[in-house]
Amino acid sequence: MTLPGSPFVAYRDGQLHVDGCALDALADQYGTPLYVYSQAAMLAALAPYERALAGRKHLVCYAMKANSSLAVLQTFARAGCGFDIVSAGELERVLAAGGRADRVVFSGVGKTRAEMRRALEAGVRCFNVESEAELEVLSEVAASLGRRAPVSLRVNPDVDAKTHPYISTGLRDNKFGIAHDRAVAAYRRAAALPGLQVTGIDCHIGSQITEVAPYLDALDRVLDLVEAVEAAGIPIHHVDLGGGLGITYTDETPPAADELIARLLERIDARGHGHRELLFEPGRSLVGNAGVLVTEVLYLKPGEEKNFCIVDAAMNDLMRPAMYEAWMATAACRLRDEPPQRYDVVGPVCESGDWLARDRLLAVRQGDRIAVLSAGAYGMSMASNYNTRGRAAEVMVIDGQAHLIRERETPQELFRGERLLG
Ligand SMILES: *Cc1c(COP(=O)(O)O)cnc(C)c1O
Repeated sequence: MTLPGSPFVAYRDGQLHVDGCALDALADQYGTPLYVYSQAAMLAALAPYERALAGRKHLVCYAMKANSSLAVLQTFARAGCGFDIVSAGELERVLAAGGRADRVVFSGVGKTRAEMRRALEAGVRCFNVESEAELEVLSEVAASLGRRAPVSLRVNPDVDAKTHPYISTGLRDNKFGIAHDRAVAAYRRAAALPGLQVTGIDCHIGSQITEVAPYLDALDRVLDLVEAVEAAGIPIHHVDLGGGLGITYTDETPPAADELIARLLERIDARGHGHRELLFEPGRSLVGNAGVLVTEVLYLKPGEEKNFCIVDAAMNDLMRPAMYEAWMATAACRLRDEPPQRYDVVGPVCESGDWLARDRLLAVRQGDRIAVLSAGAYGMSMASNYNTRGRAAEVMVIDGQAHLIRERETPQELFRGERLLG
């Protein structure tokens, strides 16, 4: 039986394993719902990025919103990665995990003054600025600290929607980035502000991208701007091409990271930009297929129209299906020699939107465990406490050994900061 996604998740003797650890055994030990990650899978996902960029000035900044658990950050920090952050909270996580501020790029359309101040004090490498209004505020904040903030402008390459309709953040009509035709003027403004130091340019065109073409289109648009900005007398040091590379959830065939980067480098060199430092901000492609969510079958509920498999994980643990109707593979943690039935796998939360998987063939009984695959990205980091459900525990497997990296939340922890009326 073959599973989509990672070679680190596989059956052995009828038991589903992550990197040598049987998921049933982990569920016995740590309870469910339980996120299980393979550290080796994360490092294996990073390797093609580093391989393709070897010998060039570069920095891979892990986009930590995909999975911001401290041990995950520590894994990437030790591997030499920087981080792409979108809040001051994420910066504190990087620092707590031993990451270096001078390898952090700070993205996001709505940075507050307090976040800017904290990031300047910590010494982040670059602010990826998303609007002209933000330039003014950042300059003010930096000047008040006697500093100059290093800035890159996030430009919106407006990659042709007709060719690539699935790209959601690189088009003219979304909230991200500075419009292509405003970019040179915005750079002029940035260069003239006392609290700013222009260092680079960046873009991020979307997520779960499975083709090379949109990246090449975006790259051309960005390099056009680099040339125009430098012609205006403003040097651009680094080019940051964002993240967004897709993974295999079912039958998608995204390019490998090294294949994608080789194609980009070819174009960069051909256009005479080979000397520039390159940054990438991968999130999903580094962690997505390195994790699974293990959940226990609470009840099987046969129906006229549908059979429901009610499990102890819910939309608060894994939001992607409810939020984006995302398709994620499911697999029984132990194989049974029984005919499978068709189920909707649903959670206990009081919402019809609370489902994890629909129309799946599963041979399971009450008490069995199911793994939702490809759950390493935008799983735990999007978890909430809806229905006063504590967030799941997390385990990282390293060299065949399981390490608890996050304890399950208790109900008391959930209302710790609340006050009763006097
Ligand atoms: C979310 C995000 C990323 C990472 O996207 P993935 O699809 O997870 O690779 C990178 N850069 C920025 C600015 C982002 O918002």
